[in-house]
Amino acid sequence: MSSEKSREYELQFLKGIGPKRAEVLHKHGIRSFNDLINFFPRRYLDRSLIMPLNELQPEQEITVIGKIEAAGIRRARRPFFYIVISDGKNMMEAVWFQGADYFKNVFKVGRWTALSGKVSFYRGFQMTHPDIDLFEEGEIDNLLNTGRIIPLYPGTEALKRSGLNSHAFRRIFKNITMQELGRVKEIFPDSLINRRDFLPRQTAYQNIHRPDSENILQKAQFRLKYEEFFQIQLMLALQKYHIKNSENGFSFSRKSTRLEKLYKKLPFELTGAQKKVIHEIRADMKKPEPMNRLLQGDVGSGKTLAAVMALLIAVDNGRQAALMVPTEILAEQHFLNISKLLESLDVKLSLLTGSTKTAQRKELAEKLSLNEPHIVIGTHALIEDTVKFSNLGLVIIDEQHRFGVMQRSRLMKKDVKSDLLVMTATPIPRTLALTVYGSLDVSVLDEMPLNRQKITTVWRFENKAREIYRYISARVSAGEQAYIVYPLVEESEKLDLKAAAEALKFLTDGPFKSFKTGLLHGRMKGAEKEETMSRFTKNEIQILVSTTVIEVGVDVANATIMLIEHAERFGLSQLHQLRGRVGRGSKKSFCILKTPYNIGETAQQRMRIMCETSDGFIIAEKDLELRGWGDFFGVKQSGMPDFKLANPIADREILEAARNDAFNLIAADPFLRKPENNLLNQFVKQNLNARMEMVKIS
Ligand code: ADP
Ligand code: MG
Repeated sequence: MSSEKSREYELQFLKGIGPKRAEVLHKHGIRSFNDLINFFPRRYLDRSLIMPLNELQPEQEITVIGKIEAAGIRRARRPFFYIVISDGKNMMEAVWFQGADYFKNVFKVGRWTALSGKVSFYRGFQMTHPDIDLFEEGEIDNLLNTGRIIPLYPGTEALKRSGLNSHAFRRIFKNITMQELGRVKEIFPDSLINRRDFLPRQTAYQNIHRPDSENILQKAQFRLKYEEFFQIQLMLALQKYHIKNSENGFSFSRKSTRLEKLYKKLPFELTGAQKKVIHEIRADMKKPEPMNRLLQGDVGSGKTLAAVMALLIAVDNGRQAALMVPTEILAEQHFLNISKLLESLDVKLSLLTGSTKTAQRKELAEKLSLNEPHIVIGTHALIEDTVKFSNLGLVIIDEQHRFGVMQRSRLMKKDVKSDLLVMTATPIPRTLALTVYGSLDVSVLDEMPLNRQKITTVWRFENKAREIYRYISARVSAGEQAYIVYPLVEESEKLDLKAAAEALKFLTDGPFKSFKTGLLHGRMKGAEKEETMSRFTKNEIQILVSTTVIEVGVDVANATIMLIEHAERFGLSQLHQLRGRVGRGSKKSFCILKTPYNIGETAQQRMRIMCETSDGFIIAEKDLELRGWGDFFGVKQSGMPDFKLANPIADREILEAARNDAFNLIAADPFLRKPENNLLNQFVKQNLNARMEMVKIS
């Protein structure tokens, strides 16, 4: 026997689990008692949620319960599995076109089940492929007669195949004894428990799984959601305290003469918001502890200039500085623009991207080893281990929302002492910003440069293509430039690329025959991209057909029209970013969203929001609303905190409470050494230390 097979799992000795199920749970990341009790119900079934069978209407998304009266396979052209449920008076049918073998064993006549899904009408009311939950003898009676609330657990096919459905989890939790529950230890000081009126921790866990009443369930949810937020906020508070109180940073105290020169050279007046933000950055950089600041500003609010000024402060103080951006095109654009801006200011400036040749890399590495002030603009190539700064003093990360938290900390590790400025064009509500960017101080560019024109946005169906092309032709004939954007979900998807190339061919041979056109996409070589962008910048290309590679940062003031093809395929924030490529000069700009006639309800909503507002803050809020937390931040890719029970949007008040409490607690007891924080200290050591990079509690 292999050692794998004879392996023992911690959970196998709990009643209702056993070695087989323990192994399946283990694979699902449920490995300890602690994991198990933190496997929370996805929702609860109570009487108020159930739709009586005599009140059904087609197209409703609902839950029904009933006793299984019949079950089997119906031989049709396409055989399917069906069940009929009844509540004693009325009946409903549910059908499945797959998995008959599995369902045959699950649905036994006489058992009770809850079905959740959309009702349709086909010779009677019916549900196709509903979510199913099965009940034990008596559970339904309890639900109907005593109002007991039944938890429903999240399930995967693998879990269900080994019998671990909602019903099994309920039984496991029912069998957990008070003695076992005794392993759940309190973590909060009494003062906090009293002030927030928390249930004892054991009671909270007991009732999240076996709620005695609606009221106590709510209290259990409150406490456990709070705990989820509190853990993260506590880590952030510790990190922030640690950074603030390290004296190890640089004090950029020398007056920046280059900054003065640049200031005098600018063709425009800084906005009030820019002045305020630059002042904040300057003050931070002067202090001996490392700067740790987030700069939020809508597309076009002029973040780059603020960044350049910070770079100059570093250089004037004899330090090297890095500006990291998410795409090569943006790096090249920034490099060109900033080179121009810094002309005659005697600054060493280099570009480093994935396309930088080995020879050039070596040359740059040598220069950087000289300890001399130097600005490097680049992509994530900057965080590769081969790049070594000899006296890095400042790191700026542009369009932070595109980078994961992990990448950010990796660059920082190169030199923990350097100042950090992260910039983002995704303005999110303050409390959420604090959760996500955590230990950072926040500056906001909440004012647009004066010369900005409002961008007019319209939504048009495909049958208006000719009018659209005619309109673009007229504007381009008058000397302006246009972007035409094609959706390319994955830069590597050849099919979409082909679509863009074909579209270009159609446009260049047809409607835009008399204009100079160009194609830009992510799979082009660095040099090619650079060439195309620079020709567009010089108006040698009048119409640029592109994929979303131009989404961030690209800045060509003469471009006044953006046509977004298949706009329904883009998210709100992405549309807003894309639109931000026009309206950057003093000319009136337009954004045209083109979609097929038939698009989904939320896509329609997105189009309407885009036409109604150009306020990035409102758009971000709507986006968050429409997509939810996980999708909005791309939780999985980016290493943003994910929550099992809590929802940072819906539970914002709990989040704020947890944040205040955590920060106050650390302010009063930064190393958790006071006796009343003993329990919390233990908890942090066991559960959080491993997740924190710079701070550890001992
Ligand atoms: P973003 O915040 O989107 O990164 P940029 O920094 O690219 O915005 O700025 C957008 C454009 O506005 C650039 O062309 C920049 O030169 C210009 N700009 C920046 N600040 C001002 C200002 N105070 N007045 C006028 N134009 C400005
Ligand atoms: Mg920018």
